[in-house]
Amino acid sequence: MPSPLLELKDVSRTYSSGGEPLTVLREVCLTIQSGEFVAIMGASGSGKSTLMNIIGCLDKPSSGTYSIRGVEVASLNGDALAALRRDTFGFIFQRYNLMSDLSAVENAEVPAVYCGMAKTDRAAHASDLLRELGLGDRLEHHPSQLSGGQQQRVSIARALMNGGPVILADEPTGALDSQGGKEVMAILEKLHSQGHTIIVVTHDSDIAAYAHRIVRIADGRITSDETQQKVEAGIQAQTGQTGNDAGPGAGILGEALKMALRSLVHNRLRTALTMLGIIIGVASVIALMAIGNGAKQDVVERIQAMGTDLLTIMRGPPAVRASAEIVTSFLPEDLPSIVGSQGVAMAIPETNLSSLLRFGNQDLMVTAVGTGENFPLVHDWPPQSGVFFSAEHVKRYAQVVTLGQTVVKNLFPDGTNPLGQYVLIGSAPFLVIGVLSSKGLTPRGDDMDNSVWLPYTTAGARIFGQRFFNDFVVRVKPEADMSAVQAGLHSLLIKRHGKEDFNIRNQADTIATADETQNTLTYLLAAIAVISLVVGGIGVMNIMLVSVTERTREIGIRMAIGARSFDVLFQFLAEAVVVCFIGGLAGVVAGLGGGLATSAIAGWRVIFTVPPIVIAFACAFLTGIIFGYLPARKAAQLDPIDALARD
Ligand code: ADP
Ligand code: MG
Repeated sequence: MPSPLLELKDVSRTYSSGGEPLTVLREVCLTIQSGEFVAIMGASGSGKSTLMNIIGCLDKPSSGTYSIRGVEVASLNGDALAALRRDTFGFIFQRYNLMSDLSAVENAEVPAVYCGMAKTDRAAHASDLLRELGLGDRLEHHPSQLSGGQQQRVSIARALMNGGPVILADEPTGALDSQGGKEVMAILEKLHSQGHTIIVVTHDSDIAAYAHRIVRIADGRITSDETQQKVEAGIQAQTGQTGNDAGPGAGILGEALKMALRSLVHNRLRTALTMLGIIIGVASVIALMAIGNGAKQDVVERIQAMGTDLLTIMRGPPAVRASAEIVTSFLPEDLPSIVGSQGVAMAIPETNLSSLLRFGNQDLMVTAVGTGENFPLVHDWPPQSGVFFSAEHVKRYAQVVTLGQTVVKNLFPDGTNPLGQYVLIGSAPFLVIGVLSSKGLTPRGDDMDNSVWLPYTTAGARIFGQRFFNDFVVRVKPEADMSAVQAGLHSLLIKRHGKEDFNIRNQADTIATADETQNTLTYLLAAIAVISLVVGGIGVMNIMLVSVTERTREIGIRMAIGARSFDVLFQFLAEAVVVCFIGGLAGVVAGLGGGLATSAIAGWRVIFTVPPIVIAFACAFLTGIIFGYLPARKAAQLDPIDALARD
C-alpha cells in the first residue's frame, strides 16, 4: 500500500517563548490522502493555524512525526523544506499576504522565480492563471488597487503557480464578505475537482460544508473526523511542474538585482543618503590620492629643476643638523681643491642669510646669498637682464648685487628699472647689476626668487661677518660617474679637514628623502579616505538592518511560498551590493571631478593613477558585501512563522 500523502502521528506543539510553556497541539494523529478536500474547524485559539503551519512545513512539531509521502519531514534540511513549500504546497492566507509593490502578475509569479522558471514563461503562466480566476483586466494592478476578493484570487493564482498539488488555505474567506467568500470557495471546489488536494481552515460551518471531510479540533486535540463522501484519488502530488531545484542561476541573480533596484528606488531618499557615504569615501580616496601624487611629482620636479648633476656639500657631520654645532671649516681655501677634484666641472660656495634690503623707503626681508661667479652656470639659472657678478667682482670685494624676480616686484612696484640703482643690504650700499630669471619654489616650498646674490667675499666681510661658508655646490662633469666624484670629494675633504665635519648629498638622495616624506603624506590621506569608506559601509549596514526589520513580513511571505534562506540572503545582499556599486561608480566620477576642480580652483597639481580608482571601487564593492552580509544573514535566518506573524 502506498504511503499516504500527509501523515501526522502523535504530533504535539509546545511554544516555550515567554515564561510558561504553552502546549497548543496535543498528540494529533491525522492522515490525509491525495485528492481530499478537508476542512479543519475549531474555535479561535484552538490550534488550527499551528496545525496548518506544521502541515505546510513552516513550523515543526515539538514531538511526534510528520511524513509527506512516507518521508519524515524532520529528516529534511532547510532547502528541502523550502522546495516542498515551493512546489508541493500552495498557501492561501486570511489576509492575502501579497507584496504591495508588486503588480498582480508579479505577485503570482514569485514562487516560479524561486524554481528558476524563465521570465517570459513565468509571466505568461501567471497571466493565464489570473485570467482563469477572472482577473484578466487586473493583471498590472497593485494590491492596493484591488478588492479583498480580487487580492485573494491573486494569492490563489500564486498558490497554483508551481502546480500547487496541495492547497493550504488558512481562513481564506475570513476577511471577505459573504459574496467574496462564496467565490473563493467556488474556486477551491473547482480546483478540487481538477484533482488538487485542498485543506481549509475555518470556523464557519457554511464554508466547511464545501469540504468532503471535516476535522474538528478543540484545545489542541482532534475531537471529531467525519467523512461526508468518498472521493477518488486526485492528481499525484509531485515536486511541481518544473521539478528541477533551481540553483543560484542567472535567473535568480537577475531577479534579485531587479528586486534590489525596485526597493532602492522605492526608498529614494534613504538610498541616496546611504550612497552618499560610499560616494564620499570613494571620491575622497581618488581625489586625495591624486592630490598627493601631484604634490609628490611637483617636489620631484622642483628638485630635478635644480639640476640632477649637482652635489651639495653641507657642513656638519652626517646625520647631525648643521645648527647642532657650529662648523667653521668650510673656507675659501677649500674651493680650488674642490674644483680641481676628479670629475668636477664647477664648484661654488653658498651661504644664505635672511637680511633686510632697503630701497628708498621700501624695506624687504630677503635671502642674501653669498656665492661665486659660476652660480648661474651651476644652477642653470641665467640672468634675465643685466649680468651676474664676475670673478673680478669677487676678487675686488665689489659691492654689487643681482636681484631675484620677487625682490624686483616688491622693491620696484612702479616699474623703475632696477639696473644701476643702489640698494642697502644691512647698512652697506650695493649697486644692482642684474636680475635673475624666475625659478619658482624650492622643494620645501620657499620662494627662490625672493633672494639677492652677492660675491661671497663682500657678503662675508660686509654683511655676514664670517669667512666660512654654509655649503659648497658642485656641478659634476656630464661624463663623470656621480658616486665616484662623490667618493673623491669625500676623501679630499677628510684629508683637508682631518675629520668628517661635512656630508655630501646628491639629488637622487634628496629626491628619495622627499619621496619618503610625500609618501607618508599620501598614506595618511589614504588612511583618512579608507576610514570614510568604512564609515560609509557602516551606514550601508545600518540602513540594511532597518530595511530587514521593515520587511520582515515580506521575508516571511517569500519563505512561505518557497524562498530558500539562500534566496533571501541573496536578495538583501544584492541590495547592499547595488547600493555600493552605484555609489562606487558615482564616487569615481565625483573623485575625478573633485580632483579636477581642486586643480582648477586651488591651482594644485593632481595626477590620477589607475590603482587608487580600482582599489577604491573594489573597496566599495567589498564594503557592500561585508557590511551587507550581516543584515542579509539576519533576514535569511528568520523563522518563516515568526516573520509572518510580524505586522
Ligand atoms: P487558531 O488558528 O486556531 O486560532 P493558533 O494555532 O493560531 O489558533 O493558536 C493557538 C494558540 O497558540 C493560541 O493560544 C495562541 O496564542 C498560541 N500561539 C500561537 N502562536 C504562538 C507563538 N508563536 N508563541 C506562543 N504562543 C502562540
Ligand atoms: Mg488561526
